[in-house]
Amino acid sequence: MQTTDSPSGFAASAGRAAGRSLKPLIRRCTFVGSIVRVSTERPVIVLTYDDGPDPLGTTAILEALEAKRASATFFVLLTRVRRHPRLLDDILAAGHEIGLHGLDHQRLSSLPYGTAKARLRDGKAELEDLTGQLIRWMRPPYGAQTFATWHAIRTTNLEPVMWNRTTWDSRNVSQQERVAMATQRPISGTILLAHDGFAGEADGVGDGPEPTVDRGRLTTLILEEFQARGLSGCSLEAALEQGTAVREGWFTRKEG
Ligand SMILES: [Zn+2]
Repeated sequence: MQTTDSPSGFAASAGRAAGRSLKPLIRRCTFVGSIVRVSTERPVIVLTYDDGPDPLGTTAILEALEAKRASATFFVLLTRVRRHPRLLDDILAAGHEIGLHGLDHQRLSSLPYGTAKARLRDGKAELEDLTGQLIRWMRPPYGAQTFATWHAIRTTNLEPVMWNRTTWDSRNVSQQERVAMATQRPISGTILLAHDGFAGEADGVGDGPEPTVDRGRLTTLILEEFQARGLSGCSLEAALEQGTAVREGWFTRKEG
């Protein structure tokens, strides 16, 4: 997915419009917050993958994670789960966590409230039937979220999970640049955004050609860099076993 790299697009634009004091105010609105990182003493980075499952990307990433004994949270699209049901089984069998990314990749914020809510309800139910597990987390496509879609997510017994670091794997940049972006000034509890697939027309969107990315290799390089700094990768669920979710207001319609 192509996402804004800024966790505060709305805050930034609203802040420019209404004065600089608004941005910290919105960020402090944790009662309407989304999870953006984990507060933890453990040296872990939360690995998250969106837009899969994908025959190439997911398979390569699962191999890379296994080699580094890392776990991750996969935010899946039902359009893709239906096409590749065995890949969902592979993710679960390897001990990773599943979250919802959507029935397809359309922005919830572009849909009427009732439609967005029905999609969330149906996506959660279908994924719970397929996995036999409770689905707790929702990653909105593009990180696009309004108060209405935040409310729809929360009242569907889901919780929005955003990120505070990206791998730039939706951009046509070098692997070296992606690794540098993902691993600069690493802090325990960081939630890292990556992708095991690339949403396309079959997922309800047209976001242009897929960038060239060796996704398995990128995961390996990032985990090696973290390892050199004493950090390991794990799922959100695993990070929260000895940590606390940090929530911030995240409201944006933008995409990057
Ligand atoms: Zn996405």
